[in-house]
Amino acid sequence: MNLYDKQKILKLRSQGLSYAKIAEATGIPKGTVKWFLTKNATERDEPKCKNCGKPLKITPGKKAKQFCCDQCRWEWWHKHRNLYKPKKTMTCNFCGKVFSYFGKNRKYCCRACYLRGRYGSQ
Ligand SMILES: [Zn+2]
Ligand SMILES: [Zn+2]
Repeated sequence: MNLYDKQKILKLRSQGLSYAKIAEATGIPKGTVKWFLTKNATERDEPKCKNCGKPLKITPGKKAKQFCCDQCRWEWWHKHRNLYKPKKTMTCNFCGKVFSYFGKNRKYCCRACYLRGRYGSQ
């Protein structure tokens, strides 16, 4: 594990990722990630609100919270909800390029292709 890996692990951990997720993202075995983080336990490991970064109180015996308040939870999901939308992929009917999009079904990658494909102008 080099310095770059270590920084990456710490960064991912500070974003609240689990050992398993960090292992997955970095390709480093979970055991190594856990060992490294236990050894390097710093304030970064203190739970912080994912939205505002405010340190969270730990209630022993309760599941760790991710947000300091409902307002923060709402704001965070509002900001990140696009990340969780299923992405669809499609081959452009005009140029054949594979593109991805959200929401309503599309047949063309862009407006220019849509116009050319639909009205046949060059
Ligand atoms: Zn907060
Ligand atoms: Zn196209």
